[in-house]
Amino acid sequence: MESEEIHTFQSLSDNVGRFNLRGKTVLIPEMNRIGCHLLAGTFRGFGINAMVMETYKGLDLGLEYSSGKECYPCQVTLGDILHFLNKEKQKLGDDFNPDDYIYFMPESDGPCRFGMYNKYQRIVLDSFPQLSDLKIGYLTAEDGYSLKGIIDERFLGDLRKASYFSMVIADILDRLLWRVRPYEREPGMADEFIERAMRNMEDAFEAYGVKKDFEKIFTKMEETIEEGKLIIDPDIPPKPMIGIVGEIYLRCMVHANQNLIRLLERYGAEVVNASVVEWVNYITYTRLRETRSELRLGVKQLRLGNIWRSLKNIARFKAELYYQELRQKQIYERVEALIDLAGDHKISHLEEILKEEDLFSFDIGTEACLSIAGILEYAREGFNGVVNVYPFTCMPSTAASAIISPVINRLGVPYLDTPYDSSFQPGREAAIRTFMYQAHQHMKRNGRKRS
Ligand code: SF4
Repeated sequence: MESEEIHTFQSLSDNVGRFNLRGKTVLIPEMNRIGCHLLAGTFRGFGINAMVMETYKGLDLGLEYSSGKECYPCQVTLGDILHFLNKEKQKLGDDFNPDDYIYFMPESDGPCRFGMYNKYQRIVLDSFPQLSDLKIGYLTAEDGYSLKGIIDERFLGDLRKASYFSMVIADILDRLLWRVRPYEREPGMADEFIERAMRNMEDAFEAYGVKKDFEKIFTKMEETIEEGKLIIDPDIPPKPMIGIVGEIYLRCMVHANQNLIRLLERYGAEVVNASVVEWVNYITYTRLRETRSELRLGVKQLRLGNIWRSLKNIARFKAELYYQELRQKQIYERVEALIDLAGDHKISHLEEILKEEDLFSFDIGTEACLSIAGILEYAREGFNGVVNVYPFTCMPSTAASAIISPVINRLGVPYLDTPYDSSFQPGREAAIRTFMYQAHQHMKRNGRKRS
Protein backbone atom coordinates (compact mmCIF):
# COMPACT_ATOMS: atom_id res chain seq x y z
CA MET A 1 0.00 0.00 0.00
CA GLU A 2 1.28 3.46 -0.91
CA SER A 3 0.77 6.38 1.43
CA GLU A 4 -0.11 9.88 0.18
CA GLU A 5 -0.32 13.34 1.69
CA ILE A 6 -3.62 14.11 3.40
CA HIS A 7 -5.62 17.12 2.26
CA THR A 8 -8.82 16.82 4.26
CA PHE A 9 -9.94 15.76 7.73
CA GLN A 10 -13.54 15.26 6.60
CA SER A 11 -13.29 11.55 7.24
CA LEU A 12 -12.86 12.18 10.96
CA SER A 13 -16.58 12.79 11.06
CA ASP A 14 -17.56 10.48 8.16
CA ASN A 15 -15.46 7.46 9.00
CA VAL A 16 -15.02 7.51 12.77
CA GLY A 17 -18.19 6.90 14.73
CA ARG A 18 -20.81 4.45 15.76
CA PHE A 19 -21.72 2.17 12.89
CA ASN A 20 -24.06 -0.77 12.69
CA LEU A 21 -21.79 -3.80 12.77
CA ARG A 22 -24.09 -6.19 10.94
CA GLY A 23 -22.80 -7.43 7.60
CA LYS A 24 -19.25 -6.24 8.35
CA THR A 25 -16.15 -7.96 9.62
CA VAL A 26 -15.41 -6.36 12.96
CA LEU A 27 -11.70 -6.17 13.71
CA ILE A 28 -10.87 -6.22 17.41
CA PRO A 29 -7.31 -5.30 18.40
CA GLU A 30 -5.90 -7.68 20.98
CA MET A 31 -5.37 -6.16 24.41
CA ASN A 32 -6.00 -8.85 27.00
CA ARG A 33 -5.94 -11.97 24.86
CA ILE A 34 -8.64 -13.92 26.68
CA GLY A 35 -10.99 -10.97 27.11
CA CYS A 36 -10.84 -10.00 23.44
CA HIS A 37 -11.50 -13.57 22.29
CA LEU A 38 -14.48 -14.02 24.61
CA LEU A 39 -15.88 -10.68 23.47
CA ALA A 40 -15.46 -11.68 19.82
CA GLY A 41 -17.27 -14.97 20.55
CA THR A 42 -20.10 -13.07 22.25
CA PHE A 43 -20.44 -10.70 19.27
CA ARG A 44 -20.53 -13.62 16.85
CA GLY A 45 -23.37 -15.15 18.87
CA PHE A 46 -25.34 -11.98 18.11
CA GLY A 47 -24.68 -12.35 14.39
CA ILE A 48 -21.75 -9.92 14.23
CA ASN A 49 -18.78 -11.31 12.37
CA ALA A 50 -16.09 -10.33 14.89
CA MET A 51 -12.49 -11.43 14.92
CA VAL A 52 -9.42 -10.63 17.01
CA MET A 53 -6.57 -9.32 14.88
CA GLU A 54 -3.12 -10.81 15.09
CA THR A 55 -1.09 -8.51 17.28
CA TYR A 56 2.41 -7.08 17.55
CA LYS A 57 3.41 -8.32 14.10
CA GLY A 58 3.05 -4.84 12.62
CA LEU A 59 4.92 -2.83 15.22
CA ASP A 60 7.40 -1.61 12.61
CA LEU A 61 4.49 -0.17 10.61
CA GLY A 62 3.05 1.43 13.75
CA LEU A 63 6.37 3.11 14.43
CA GLU A 64 6.87 4.10 10.79
CA TYR A 65 3.51 5.88 10.57
CA SER A 66 3.66 7.68 13.91
CA SER A 67 5.91 10.51 15.03
CA GLY A 68 7.12 9.07 18.33
CA LYS A 69 5.04 11.49 20.41
CA GLU A 70 2.03 9.18 20.57
CA CYS A 71 1.30 6.86 23.46
CA TYR A 72 2.81 3.42 22.93
CA PRO A 73 -0.59 1.59 22.82
CA CYS A 74 -1.57 3.89 19.94
CA GLN A 75 1.54 2.84 18.00
CA VAL A 76 0.98 -0.86 18.68
CA THR A 77 -2.67 -0.83 17.65
CA LEU A 78 -1.88 1.28 14.57
CA GLY A 79 0.67 -1.36 13.60
CA ASP A 80 -1.90 -4.11 14.16
CA ILE A 81 -4.48 -2.61 11.81
CA LEU A 82 -1.96 -1.71 9.09
CA HIS A 83 -0.44 -5.19 9.26
CA PHE A 84 -3.86 -6.84 9.08
CA LEU A 85 -4.97 -4.75 6.10
CA ASN A 86 -1.69 -5.37 4.27
CA LYS A 87 -2.08 -9.09 4.66
CA GLU A 88 -5.74 -9.04 3.76
CA LYS A 89 -4.99 -7.08 0.62
CA GLN A 90 -2.31 -9.55 -0.39
CA LYS A 91 -4.66 -12.46 0.26
CA LEU A 92 -7.73 -11.08 -1.51
CA GLY A 93 -6.12 -9.01 -4.27
CA ASP A 94 -8.78 -7.16 -6.29
CA ASP A 95 -11.54 -8.57 -4.08
CA PHE A 96 -10.23 -6.57 -1.12
CA ASN A 97 -12.79 -3.96 -0.15
CA PRO A 98 -12.09 -1.82 2.95
CA ASP A 99 -15.81 -1.12 3.25
CA ASP A 100 -16.27 -4.77 4.32
CA TYR A 101 -14.56 -4.09 7.65
CA ILE A 102 -15.08 -2.04 10.77
CA TYR A 103 -12.04 -1.49 12.91
CA PHE A 104 -13.12 -1.38 16.54
CA MET A 105 -11.26 1.20 18.63
CA PRO A 106 -12.98 2.31 21.86
CA GLU A 107 -12.03 5.62 23.43
CA SER A 108 -12.06 7.40 26.72
CA ASP A 109 -12.48 11.13 27.18
CA GLY A 110 -9.54 13.05 28.64
CA PRO A 111 -7.68 14.43 30.26
CA CYS A 112 -5.18 12.16 28.49
CA ARG A 113 -4.78 11.00 24.89
CA PHE A 114 -6.86 7.84 24.64
CA GLY A 115 -9.70 9.89 23.16
CA MET A 116 -7.48 10.76 20.20
CA TYR A 117 -6.24 7.30 19.13
CA ASN A 118 -9.07 6.62 16.69
CA LYS A 119 -8.85 10.13 15.17
CA TYR A 120 -5.11 9.91 14.81
CA GLN A 121 -5.32 6.45 13.28
CA ARG A 122 -8.01 7.69 10.89
CA ILE A 123 -5.63 10.42 9.70
CA VAL A 124 -2.94 7.80 9.08
CA LEU A 125 -5.40 5.51 7.26
CA ASP A 126 -6.47 8.46 5.12
CA SER A 127 -2.95 8.74 3.83
CA PHE A 128 -3.62 5.44 2.00
CA PRO A 129 -6.22 6.32 -0.67
CA GLN A 130 -7.26 2.66 -0.99
CA LEU A 131 -8.26 2.60 2.70
CA SER A 132 -10.48 5.65 2.69
CA ASP A 133 -13.66 3.57 3.02
CA LEU A 134 -12.52 1.70 6.10
CA LYS A 135 -14.67 2.71 9.07
CA ILE A 136 -13.43 3.02 12.64
CA GLY A 137 -16.20 2.14 15.05
CA TYR A 138 -15.93 3.26 18.63
CA LEU A 139 -17.59 3.02 21.99
CA THR A 140 -16.88 5.89 24.29
CA ALA A 141 -16.45 6.20 28.05
CA GLU A 142 -18.35 9.49 27.74
CA ASP A 143 -21.68 7.63 27.73
CA GLY A 144 -20.49 4.66 29.81
CA TYR A 145 -19.66 2.55 26.73
CA SER A 146 -23.24 2.50 25.48
CA LEU A 147 -23.71 0.06 22.58
CA LYS A 148 -26.40 2.18 20.96
CA GLY A 149 -26.11 2.27 17.20
CA ILE A 150 -23.87 -0.75 16.72
CA ILE A 151 -26.67 -3.33 16.74
CA ASP A 152 -30.47 -3.37 16.43
CA GLU A 153 -32.11 -1.67 19.39
CA ARG A 154 -33.85 -4.87 20.55
CA PHE A 155 -30.54 -6.68 21.18
CA LEU A 156 -28.84 -3.79 23.00
CA GLY A 157 -29.56 -4.89 26.58
CA ASP A 158 -28.75 -8.54 25.96
CA LEU A 159 -25.50 -7.77 24.13
CA ARG A 160 -24.42 -5.50 26.94
CA LYS A 161 -25.16 -8.12 29.60
CA ALA A 162 -23.46 -10.93 27.68
CA SER A 163 -20.42 -8.75 26.92
CA TYR A 164 -20.06 -7.77 30.55
CA PHE A 165 -20.38 -11.40 31.61
CA SER A 166 -17.67 -12.35 29.12
CA MET A 167 -15.33 -9.72 30.57
CA VAL A 168 -15.80 -11.00 34.13
CA ILE A 169 -15.20 -14.59 33.03
CA ALA A 170 -12.09 -13.48 31.10
CA ASP A 171 -10.75 -11.78 34.24
CA ILE A 172 -11.31 -15.00 36.15
CA LEU A 173 -9.54 -17.11 33.53
CA ASP A 174 -6.58 -14.71 33.72
CA ARG A 175 -6.57 -14.98 37.51
CA LEU A 176 -6.77 -18.74 37.27
CA LEU A 177 -3.68 -18.76 35.05
CA TRP A 178 -1.72 -16.53 37.46
CA ARG A 179 -2.87 -18.71 40.36
CA VAL A 180 -1.79 -22.07 38.89
CA ARG A 181 1.21 -21.25 36.68
CA PRO A 182 3.69 -20.48 39.49
CA TYR A 183 2.90 -23.90 40.99
CA GLU A 184 2.55 -26.02 37.84
CA ARG A 185 3.69 -29.65 38.00
CA GLU A 186 5.49 -29.42 34.66
CA PRO A 187 6.61 -26.33 32.71
CA GLY A 188 4.11 -25.32 30.01
CA MET A 189 1.10 -27.15 31.49
CA ALA A 190 -0.68 -23.96 32.57
CA ASP A 191 -0.19 -22.16 29.26
CA GLU A 192 -1.45 -25.11 27.25
CA PHE A 193 -4.44 -25.48 29.57
CA ILE A 194 -5.44 -21.82 29.47
CA GLU A 195 -5.24 -21.60 25.67
CA ARG A 196 -7.61 -24.57 25.44
CA ALA A 197 -9.86 -23.13 28.14
CA MET A 198 -10.03 -19.82 26.28
CA ARG A 199 -11.10 -21.50 23.03
CA ASN A 200 -13.78 -23.53 24.87
CA MET A 201 -15.15 -20.45 26.61
CA GLU A 202 -15.11 -18.49 23.35
CA ASP A 203 -17.29 -21.22 21.81
CA ALA A 204 -19.52 -21.21 24.90
CA PHE A 205 -20.12 -17.46 24.61
CA GLU A 206 -20.84 -17.78 20.91
CA ALA A 207 -23.39 -20.52 21.56
CA TYR A 208 -25.06 -19.36 24.79
CA GLY A 209 -24.35 -15.62 25.18
CA VAL A 210 -27.19 -14.56 22.88
CA LYS A 211 -29.64 -16.77 24.79
CA LYS A 212 -28.35 -15.34 28.07
CA ASP A 213 -27.88 -18.92 29.18
CA PHE A 214 -25.19 -17.86 31.61
CA GLU A 215 -25.70 -20.97 33.74
CA LYS A 216 -24.40 -23.19 30.90
CA ILE A 217 -21.38 -20.92 30.48
CA PHE A 218 -20.75 -21.00 34.19
CA THR A 219 -20.93 -24.80 34.32
CA LYS A 220 -18.13 -24.84 31.74
CA MET A 221 -16.22 -22.38 33.89
CA GLU A 222 -16.56 -24.67 36.92
CA GLU A 223 -15.23 -27.63 34.92
CA THR A 224 -12.33 -25.46 33.75
CA ILE A 225 -11.46 -24.46 37.31
CA GLU A 226 -11.52 -28.08 38.48
CA GLU A 227 -9.18 -29.00 35.64
CA GLY A 228 -6.91 -26.04 36.41
CA LYS A 229 -6.60 -27.03 40.06
CA LEU A 230 -5.03 -30.34 39.02
CA ILE A 231 -2.07 -28.44 37.55
CA ILE A 232 -1.00 -27.18 40.98
CA ASP A 233 1.80 -29.14 42.61
CA PRO A 234 0.96 -29.08 46.35
CA ASP A 235 4.62 -29.58 47.27
CA ILE A 236 5.65 -26.16 45.92
CA PRO A 237 5.57 -23.73 48.87
CA PRO A 238 3.61 -20.45 48.65
CA LYS A 239 5.37 -17.63 46.86
CA PRO A 240 5.39 -13.86 47.49
CA MET A 241 2.20 -12.17 46.27
CA ILE A 242 2.80 -9.32 43.84
CA GLY A 243 0.02 -6.93 42.80
CA ILE A 244 0.04 -5.08 39.48
CA VAL A 245 -1.62 -1.75 38.72
CA GLY A 246 -1.16 0.72 35.88
CA GLU A 247 -2.35 1.69 32.44
CA ILE A 248 -4.90 -0.85 31.23
CA TYR A 249 -3.46 -1.64 27.80
CA LEU A 250 0.11 -2.09 28.96
CA ARG A 251 -0.69 -4.17 31.98
CA CYS A 252 -2.95 -6.48 29.95
CA MET A 253 -0.97 -6.76 26.73
CA VAL A 254 1.77 -9.31 27.28
CA HIS A 255 3.80 -8.41 24.17
CA ALA A 256 3.79 -4.71 24.95
CA ASN A 257 4.84 -5.28 28.57
CA GLN A 258 7.49 -7.75 27.45
CA ASN A 259 5.80 -10.53 29.40
CA LEU A 260 6.20 -8.85 32.74
CA ILE A 261 4.10 -11.35 34.69
CA ARG A 262 6.08 -14.28 33.37
CA LEU A 263 9.32 -12.50 34.27
CA LEU A 264 8.09 -11.86 37.80
CA GLU A 265 7.09 -15.52 38.03
CA ARG A 266 10.55 -16.57 36.88
CA TYR A 267 11.95 -14.81 39.94
CA GLY A 268 9.48 -16.49 42.27
CA ALA A 269 6.28 -14.39 42.27
CA GLU A 270 2.60 -15.21 42.33
CA VAL A 271 0.99 -12.27 40.58
CA VAL A 272 -2.43 -10.62 40.59
CA ASN A 273 -3.02 -7.99 37.92
CA ALA A 274 -5.75 -5.35 38.24
CA SER A 275 -8.77 -6.53 36.29
CA VAL A 276 -10.33 -5.19 33.09
CA VAL A 277 -13.78 -5.09 34.67
CA GLU A 278 -12.39 -2.73 37.30
CA TRP A 279 -11.98 -0.18 34.49
CA VAL A 280 -15.50 -0.81 33.13
CA ASN A 281 -17.02 -0.39 36.60
CA TYR A 282 -14.89 2.70 37.16
CA ILE A 283 -16.26 4.30 33.99
CA THR A 284 -19.87 3.64 35.04
CA TYR A 285 -19.08 4.88 38.56
CA THR A 286 -17.52 8.13 37.33
CA ARG A 287 -20.46 8.77 34.96
CA LEU A 288 -22.79 8.39 37.94
CA ARG A 289 -20.67 10.84 39.96
CA GLU A 290 -20.67 13.34 37.11
CA THR A 291 -24.42 13.19 36.55
CA ARG A 292 -24.93 13.82 40.27
CA SER A 293 -22.78 16.97 39.97
CA GLU A 294 -24.80 18.01 36.92
CA LEU A 295 -27.99 17.58 38.93
CA ARG A 296 -26.64 19.79 41.73
CA LEU A 297 -25.73 22.46 39.19
CA GLY A 298 -29.13 22.18 37.49
CA VAL A 299 -30.88 22.65 40.84
CA LYS A 300 -28.71 25.66 41.67
CA GLN A 301 -29.49 27.25 38.31
CA LEU A 302 -33.12 26.13 38.39
CA ARG A 303 -32.90 24.63 34.91
CA LEU A 304 -35.71 22.11 34.71
CA GLY A 305 -34.55 20.52 31.46
CA ASN A 306 -31.10 19.86 32.90
CA ILE A 307 -32.56 18.53 36.15
CA TRP A 308 -34.79 16.10 34.27
CA ARG A 309 -31.94 14.90 32.05
CA SER A 310 -29.64 14.45 35.03
CA LEU A 311 -32.27 12.48 36.93
CA LYS A 312 -32.74 10.16 33.96
CA ASN A 313 -28.97 9.65 33.64
CA ILE A 314 -28.57 9.05 37.36
CA ALA A 315 -31.22 6.34 37.20
CA ARG A 316 -29.51 4.77 34.19
CA PHE A 317 -25.96 4.73 35.57
CA LYS A 318 -27.15 3.64 39.02
CA ALA A 319 -28.96 0.67 37.52
CA GLU A 320 -25.96 -0.23 35.34
CA LEU A 321 -23.50 -0.03 38.21
CA TYR A 322 -25.79 -2.04 40.46
CA TYR A 323 -26.18 -4.74 37.82
CA GLN A 324 -22.45 -4.88 37.03
CA GLU A 325 -21.29 -5.07 40.62
CA LEU A 326 -23.95 -7.60 41.59
CA ARG A 327 -23.16 -9.80 38.60
CA GLN A 328 -19.43 -9.62 39.28
CA LYS A 329 -19.92 -10.40 42.99
CA GLN A 330 -22.12 -13.42 42.23
CA ILE A 331 -19.57 -14.87 39.83
CA TYR A 332 -16.60 -14.32 42.15
CA GLU A 333 -18.49 -15.90 45.06
CA ARG A 334 -19.14 -19.04 43.05
CA VAL A 335 -15.54 -19.19 41.87
CA GLU A 336 -14.13 -18.63 45.35
CA ALA A 337 -16.06 -21.68 46.56
CA LEU A 338 -13.89 -23.74 44.19
CA ILE A 339 -10.46 -22.10 44.37
CA ASP A 340 -8.80 -19.31 46.35
CA LEU A 341 -8.57 -16.68 43.61
CA ALA A 342 -7.95 -13.01 44.43
CA GLY A 343 -11.16 -10.98 44.50
CA ASP A 344 -11.63 -7.66 42.75
CA HIS A 345 -11.68 -4.13 44.13
CA LYS A 346 -14.98 -2.30 44.48
CA ILE A 347 -14.72 1.20 43.03
CA SER A 348 -16.52 2.98 45.86
CA HIS A 349 -14.05 1.33 48.25
CA LEU A 350 -11.12 2.63 46.19
CA GLU A 351 -12.57 6.13 46.35
CA GLU A 352 -12.91 5.79 50.13
CA ILE A 353 -9.22 4.89 50.37
CA LEU A 354 -8.23 7.98 48.38
CA LYS A 355 -10.39 10.17 50.61
CA GLU A 356 -8.96 8.63 53.79
CA GLU A 357 -5.40 9.17 52.64
CA ASP A 358 -6.15 12.49 50.93
CA LEU A 359 -3.74 11.63 48.13
CA PHE A 360 -5.78 12.16 44.96
CA SER A 361 -9.36 12.75 43.94
CA PHE A 362 -11.88 11.05 41.68
CA ASP A 363 -12.74 14.61 40.55
CA ILE A 364 -9.47 14.60 38.58
CA GLY A 365 -10.28 11.26 37.01
CA THR A 366 -8.04 9.00 34.88
CA GLU A 367 -6.59 5.63 35.76
CA ALA A 368 -4.43 7.29 38.44
CA CYS A 369 -7.48 7.02 40.73
CA LEU A 370 -7.44 3.23 40.37
CA SER A 371 -3.66 2.87 40.48
CA ILE A 372 -3.02 4.94 43.60
CA ALA A 373 -5.90 3.43 45.55
CA GLY A 374 -5.14 -0.05 44.17
CA ILE A 375 -1.52 0.12 45.39
CA LEU A 376 -2.66 1.11 48.87
CA GLU A 377 -5.25 -1.64 48.89
CA TYR A 378 -2.66 -4.27 47.89
CA ALA A 379 -0.42 -3.02 50.71
CA ARG A 380 -3.29 -3.23 53.21
CA GLU A 381 -4.24 -6.71 52.05
CA GLY A 382 -0.72 -7.94 52.81
CA PHE A 383 0.75 -8.25 49.31
CA ASN A 384 4.55 -8.55 49.34
CA GLY A 385 5.19 -6.08 46.53
CA VAL A 386 3.48 -3.90 43.93
CA VAL A 387 4.43 -3.11 40.32
CA ASN A 388 3.10 -0.12 38.39
CA VAL A 389 3.24 -0.84 34.63
CA TYR A 390 2.60 1.83 32.01
CA PRO A 391 3.61 3.27 28.66
CA PHE A 392 6.65 5.53 28.77
CA THR A 393 5.40 9.15 29.23
CA CYS A 394 1.89 8.03 30.22
CA MET A 395 0.45 10.99 32.08
CA PRO A 396 -1.85 9.33 34.68
CA SER A 397 0.62 6.57 35.52
CA THR A 398 3.53 8.98 35.92
CA ALA A 399 1.38 11.07 38.26
CA ALA A 400 0.40 7.93 40.18
CA SER A 401 4.05 6.96 40.53
CA ALA A 402 5.08 10.41 41.82
CA ILE A 403 2.27 10.44 44.39
CA ILE A 404 2.54 6.88 45.65
CA SER A 405 6.33 6.38 45.81
CA PRO A 406 6.95 8.18 49.15
CA VAL A 407 3.81 6.65 50.69
CA ILE A 408 4.64 3.07 49.75
CA ASN A 409 8.24 3.56 50.94
CA ARG A 410 6.93 4.61 54.34
CA LEU A 411 4.75 1.49 54.43
CA GLY A 412 7.82 -0.66 53.74
CA VAL A 413 6.23 -2.55 50.83
CA PRO A 414 8.54 -3.21 47.83
CA TYR A 415 7.43 -1.13 44.85
CA LEU A 416 8.61 -0.93 41.24
CA ASP A 417 7.77 1.34 38.30
CA THR A 418 8.02 -0.34 34.89
CA PRO A 419 7.48 2.09 31.99
CA TYR A 420 7.57 0.48 28.54
CA ASP A 421 7.96 1.49 24.93
CA SER A 422 9.19 -0.49 21.93
CA SER A 423 12.78 -0.56 23.18
CA PHE A 424 14.31 -2.99 25.65
CA GLN A 425 15.78 -1.58 28.85
CA PRO A 426 18.95 -3.50 29.59
CA GLY A 427 18.57 -3.06 33.36
CA ARG A 428 14.93 -4.15 33.53
CA GLU A 429 15.57 -7.78 34.44
CA ALA A 430 18.10 -6.81 37.12
CA ALA A 431 15.55 -4.37 38.59
CA ILE A 432 12.92 -7.11 38.70
CA ARG A 433 15.34 -9.55 40.28
CA THR A 434 16.18 -7.02 43.00
CA PHE A 435 12.51 -6.21 43.50
CA MET A 436 11.70 -9.89 43.90
CA TYR A 437 14.52 -10.30 46.41
CA GLN A 438 12.88 -7.53 48.46
CA ALA A 439 9.48 -9.21 48.07
CA HIS A 440 10.89 -12.51 49.39
CA GLN A 441 12.34 -10.66 52.38
CA HIS A 442 9.01 -8.94 52.93
CA MET A 443 7.24 -12.31 52.95
CA LYS A 444 9.75 -13.74 55.44
CA ARG A 445 9.09 -10.86 57.83
CA ASN A 446 5.35 -10.37 57.31
CA GLY A 447 3.95 -13.57 55.83
CA ARG A 448 1.73 -13.25 52.78
CA LYS A 449 -1.83 -12.54 51.88
CA ARG A 450 -2.85 -16.13 51.23
CA SER A 451 -0.84 -18.85 53.01
S1 SF4 B 1 -3.60 6.56 29.86
FE1 SF4 B 1 -1.48 7.02 29.34
S2 SF4 B 1 -1.05 5.73 27.57
FE2 SF4 B 1 -3.26 5.83 27.77
S3 SF4 B 1 -3.85 7.57 26.49
FE3 SF4 B 1 -3.58 8.37 28.53
S4 SF4 B 1 -1.48 9.14 28.55
FE4 SF4 B 1 -1.69 7.74 26.82
